[in-house]
Amino acid sequence: MLSVVESNADAFEIVSLSALKSAELLAAQAKQFGVTRVAIGEEAAGARALGADLQVGVGEEALVALASDPEADLVVNALVGTAGLPVTAASVGAGKRLAIANKESLVMAGGLVTSLARRTGSELIPIDSEHSSIFRCLRGTSSGEVTGVVLTASGGPLRDLPVDEVASAAVAAVLSHPTWDMGEKITVDSATLVNKAMEVVEAMWLFDLPLDSIDVVVHRQSVVHSFVRLCDGSLLAHLGSPDMRVPIQYALFYPDAPGGRFDEFRPAEMGTLSFGPVEAGRYPCFDLVLASARKGGTAPTTAATADEVAVDAFLTGRIRFGDIAAVIAGTLDAEGSGPAEDLATVFEAERSARATAAEIVNDIAAHAAHGPAGAAFTNGHSGV
Ligand code: MG
Repeated sequence: MLSVVESNADAFEIVSLSALKSAELLAAQAKQFGVTRVAIGEEAAGARALGADLQVGVGEEALVALASDPEADLVVNALVGTAGLPVTAASVGAGKRLAIANKESLVMAGGLVTSLARRTGSELIPIDSEHSSIFRCLRGTSSGEVTGVVLTASGGPLRDLPVDEVASAAVAAVLSHPTWDMGEKITVDSATLVNKAMEVVEAMWLFDLPLDSIDVVVHRQSVVHSFVRLCDGSLLAHLGSPDMRVPIQYALFYPDAPGGRFDEFRPAEMGTLSFGPVEAGRYPCFDLVLASARKGGTAPTTAATADEVAVDAFLTGRIRFGDIAAVIAGTLDAEGSGPAEDLATVFEAERSARATAAEIVNDIAAHAAHGPAGAAFTNGHSGV
């Protein structure tokens, strides 16, 4: 985001910045962009390194204050995970234009967020590459013309691993994404395809589409960023190199033409593009998250929260890759689902799911530690 602003310095003024824990980097960025207000996620990492000339807030409350700051015309929410929802709710509640990369906000509370946006006049502009492409394609369609969308998925880092080796894939193998360079949580979510299932739900809310009108196709090259399906049976697509600066810049400039130019995409140099179905049985988490979306209410919040707990446990070596699905399934079973009437209900469902998922992780880790084969660290050294 900052590199896009840097190359379009006349177009934007940054009024505040935040970081989870990289205090020194945050301080350097604040200095570079002349920002005086910052928020940091974790106190221990925070204030000391940031210097006296900054107003520093800590934690969710500070983020929410920045997200609803009257001086900001546009808020970029690129938080990772369920922590993104309070920021989305605050900026939408304040009627901001929100450039949204945080999927969980819409997975957990898409209905509440979009109806709040209609009341406050807030606009949601997607930064997720697939949704940005759909958003761009939709601008060239007329009412009644669109019958659905097709999201492309790379298939993730484990797409070529024999399916019986997937459950014991090592952390390093899971973290090496074939086409996109992203954070750890989202890279694991790409390997499970939870990321894609969340994107289906995201598309449902952003574009007001029925869940069943949204398909997923595996497209290994990540060049076609998604398709819009039209009533005459044809498709629109947006193509380009996998570079997150493109959707970020589009969201920042919207509704105007984007300012900077990145590497030009040249089809003749691209070679073959491939498309295929999501392989049945390879991605159990994908099916679980979609089933939770079909159930609706608080179920998607439970699934997203359980995934977050499970991914953290996988990355810290407590459970195997294959256990992520067990944590999500177990948490969904134990929690059931109710209507998501308001944000308080959603936050309560999240709190409860977090506790349940943590218990399931503890159970799995305890069995792995005492059981025969299958302990996390044994399997952690197999694979590529
Ligand atoms: Mg995406």
